[in-house]
Amino acid sequence: MGEFELIRRYFARQPAVDSVALGIGDDCALLQLPIGRQLAVSIDTLVEGTHFLAGSDPARLAERLLGAAVSDLAGMAAEPLWFTLALTLPEADPAWLEPFARRLSERAADFGIVLVGGDTTRGHRTMSVQVHGAVEPGRALTRRGAQPGDLVCVTGTLGDSRGGLQTLLDQSAASGDVDWLRQRFYCPEPRLAVGHRIGGIATAGLDISDGLLADLGHLLEDGLGAEIELDGLPLSAALVARFGREQARQWALSGGEDFELCFTLPEAQRSLLASLSDQVTVVGRIEAESGLRLRHPDGRLESVAAAGFDHFPDN
Ligand code: ADP
Ligand code: MG
Repeated sequence: MGEFELIRRYFARQPAVDSVALGIGDDCALLQLPIGRQLAVSIDTLVEGTHFLAGSDPARLAERLLGAAVSDLAGMAAEPLWFTLALTLPEADPAWLEPFARRLSERAADFGIVLVGGDTTRGHRTMSVQVHGAVEPGRALTRRGAQPGDLVCVTGTLGDSRGGLQTLLDQSAASGDVDWLRQRFYCPEPRLAVGHRIGGIATAGLDISDGLLADLGHLLEDGLGAEIELDGLPLSAALVARFGREQARQWALSGGEDFELCFTLPEAQRSLLASLSDQVTVVGRIEAESGLRLRHPDGRLESVAAAGFDHFPDN
């Protein structure tokens, strides 16, 4: 199977969408951005050996690749529109391509995003997805804008993805909790609806990819700080049951790959949380004093570093 046959067979058939004037097959796609809206653009890459092991299930890679990329649109309060796919593969293997392409289009349909182009090359297995979304000017959820006194809020539960990874490393036998945690690891569920609700209301926000502490650190420019209530961290019953509360808290703070949202909300907007109470938890507050502090259940205050994963650490 040649390159063009590969594209035709696995990627060229896409649902017809009004905003796509010309899709896959030409030098460029021609896309119609809704009038008056800003284009939000982000790209994510998975590299074999760095982000996943050789032999990984292609359907799982597809859902993780697209979920992580679309999560950046949620973290910007943007509505998903289109994506492109750059695929580098060691060989054109239908047993890999078929489940990859099928799961990719299933998740694309879930998110309301359409594949409009890409690139296909031979080499070390690497996959990039660039997502495009639309947001009204002034409603994007940027990393700048948090104010002292703002509530620090997060969606969902934290640390599950890290727990799911641990069950894989430990080769734990499957069970209800183990399966659920693994699903949280494999299959990001971008918080598009919450992102849309808080756009233009939250003062700052982002999606949590490197752990709460590291990503919250990105909202603390200009010498701001934050206090986090350890008791208030949203932990899933499955994570606590499997690994205990201490470990669960640790992973909630620094586990990474949760793809939940973290945002700051003025106290005056607290009433917004009532309608989101099953999806959002207040975990702390922005403070004028720089640094991150953890409030322990016994009242003790601990200063912590906002460390996250870095592909190119200085030392
Ligand atoms: P060009 O040489 O003009 O860059 P290509 O021959 O690489 O175009 O690709 C042909 C068409 O197929 C283009 O519209 C491109 O966007 C699309 N395409 C290539 N690879 C992929 C892919 N992996 N997924 C989706 N579309 C792809
Ligand atoms: Mg061309």
